[in-house]
Amino acid sequence: MRNTPTILHLDMDAFYASAEQAAKPSLRGKAVIVGGLGPRGVVATASYEARVFGVHSAMPMAQARRLAPNAAYLVPRFGFYREISEQVMRLLRELSPLVEPLSLDEAFVDLEAGGTAWDEESARLTGTKLRGDIRAVTGLTGSVGLAVSKMLAKIASEQAKPDGLVLIEPGTERAMLGPLPVRTLPGVGPATGDHLRRVGITTVEEVAEAGEDELVRLLGKAHGSALYGMALALDERPVVAERDTKSVSVEDTYDVDIHDRVRVRMEVQRLADRCVRRLRDAGRSGRTVVLKVRRYDFSTLTRSDTLRGPTDDPAVVREAAARLLETVDTTGGVRLLGVGVTGLADFTQEDLFAQAQAAAGELEPLAEEEVEESAEKQETPTVRRWSAGHDVRHAEFGHGWVQGSGLGRVTVRFETPDSDPGRVRTFRTDDPELEPAEPLPLVRRRPQVSSEPARWPQSRSGGGGGGATSSP
Ligand SMILES: [Mg+2]
Repeated sequence: MRNTPTILHLDMDAFYASAEQAAKPSLRGKAVIVGGLGPRGVVATASYEARVFGVHSAMPMAQARRLAPNAAYLVPRFGFYREISEQVMRLLRELSPLVEPLSLDEAFVDLEAGGTAWDEESARLTGTKLRGDIRAVTGLTGSVGLAVSKMLAKIASEQAKPDGLVLIEPGTERAMLGPLPVRTLPGVGPATGDHLRRVGITTVEEVAEAGEDELVRLLGKAHGSALYGMALALDERPVVAERDTKSVSVEDTYDVDIHDRVRVRMEVQRLADRCVRRLRDAGRSGRTVVLKVRRYDFSTLTRSDTLRGPTDDPAVVREAAARLLETVDTTGGVRLLGVGVTGLADFTQEDLFAQAQAAAGELEPLAEEEVEESAEKQETPTVRRWSAGHDVRHAEFGHGWVQGSGLGRVTVRFETPDSDPGRVRTFRTDDPELEPAEPLPLVRRRPQVSSEPARWPQSRSGGGGGGATSSP
């Protein structure tokens, strides 16, 4: 393990909700909840104002509505978040070739490998400058943790939230960790936490005091040893660049195109199960589920869904794959289906240690497929749906966003990231003057000579794997 705090963990603050507040002046300083608004929806992100009411991510939406009935409830706009995420990841890649994204708004960076930091002072300066750059480029805030290992850097960024920087000085790690609850350690979920509490172990210090033999007796060899190591602040895991991470995927080509939607669904479930078996055989878990569909005309689509944490649960992968399938039109027939899991980790959120020592095995990378633009276009639904929070443009009133819709009416608030809070107007849902619009950038580029509206700076769109991304 290194002895300089040059591993950086960045975590954007209440990312989806903050992005929505930045885009919608009327929501700034208000409780904003982004997530699935359907009967089984869960909260993806709650703004800090909403957290005051006890709302947090992964909470059922119905419960959030009871706790914060007056909050703004918005459907996630993943394309928009991805644009911001790419801006952030570009800034991170300027610091080091070793950037390991964990989700759209979270990543590890090995500053030493990039030559950008070599001691405490240079690490702190780099982290401070990064936070400023993120703010300038995206208009949003992120928190930074710096430490000698990934585990500690992540704990540090959690302590830094919101809008802060925490550097854990080398030599102080064990003193800092000691009083923290055992659940702070990565991979200690509610089950392991309960198990340890029953034998009187609630803090990291108590884990260290219990000793390795006792922990192995309680939790088994792999789990017990790994937990003991974590409690001593030992974490050797390297930062792994995104391109080095592997995927597990399986696919089937059919002799005869499948037209029956029920059969397509069944095939996807079967592939999801097979994929999870391979994942488990490799002792791994992943957080992004990818669905690949090649249609009768050879157009190939990939859709991906990023979960809140790594999983190897067949039910979770099946459900994610089924959800992705719902976004693909297969009416013309399907000649190939594939299901993959990427963003692999050696552990699941819930149980790091059970799998930590399993061999990585041989993993076949998921085939990179060009997403054909023409095929993408065909996906546009013919029925106009006005999702809460999504952007629209009105011929007369300009740019706005859907505040709500129902009973043949849609309410739109007309405002832009750099306007004052806007006014609300109501239209018929089939008003020909109203149309869906692309999100506007949160930070305007320098004014150009032309009077063109601001656009996203050179975005890395296109390429494989781009698709609907969501947290459950
Ligand atoms: Mg975050």
